Amino acid sequence: MPGNSNIMSSKGRSEALSFHRDLPVPVVIRPMRSARRLRLRFDEIRGVLKLTCPKRMSERTALAWAAEQRGWVEAQMARAMPAEPFLPGSAIPVEGQEVQLTWIEAEARTPRLVGQELVCGGPREAFSKRIESFLRRHALTTLSREAAEFAGKAGVAVRAVSIGDASTRWGSCSAERRIRFSWRLILAPPEARRYVVAHEVAHLVHLNHGSRFKALEAKLFDGDIDAARASLRLVGPRLKRIGRGS
Ligand SMILES: [Zn+2]
Repeated sequence: MPGNSNIMSSKGRSEALSFHRDLPVPVVIRPMRSARRLRLRFDEIRGVLKLTCPKRMSERTALAWAAEQRGWVEAQMARAMPAEPFLPGSAIPVEGQEVQLTWIEAEARTPRLVGQELVCGGPREAFSKRIESFLRRHALTTLSREAAEFAGKAGVAVRAVSIGDASTRWGSCSAERRIRFSWRLILAPPEARRYVVAHEVAHLVHLNHGSRFKALEAKLFDGDIDAARASLRLVGPRLKRIGRGS
């Protein structure tokens, strides 16, 4: 278990953020001469992890250790950052745009996107479930279409596209050419979503992260891939809290 150490803040010094695919938030790594062991703390205000490590330890080793504390990290986050259940009157992002959730009993039970409003009718008890089903369907349609588009560009075929709710991965790809995405990608800005699709489709050709994979991923995405990745990292923690707690 990581300790709750008090870490001195170095005022005025800019801090580089590091990322690990198994950690839901960025990490500020602080090598310290006096540190004998690794210490992890969750900064609730900034939504980052602060990792203190011995001066000589590599960033990679320190990050790998932090990733092993994922259960602890998620518990800290759940305590500090509240879930955002699907409640009438609240707002959620859909394709990166804030949309208001509206419940009007007499309206159709299947939610409809009307401008910046997602309107759902029927019994109040079913509201949350119907909103999530709508988002999952919207995600599956959009992600299937985009996967087919990128696969066509790469000259490969996708066997199946499915939707899930993995806590740490936005997408995964099997050797049988099946791709699985998190439905939460439909909440993200389009460029962030398309980056994940390009990434997984590139895995249909290369089952690794080598240079040929990266070249194909960049060709498929055809845009500022670093900016897309950064935008997903930025919104990711919130997206994972949406629709929970209801
Ligand atoms: Zn990958």
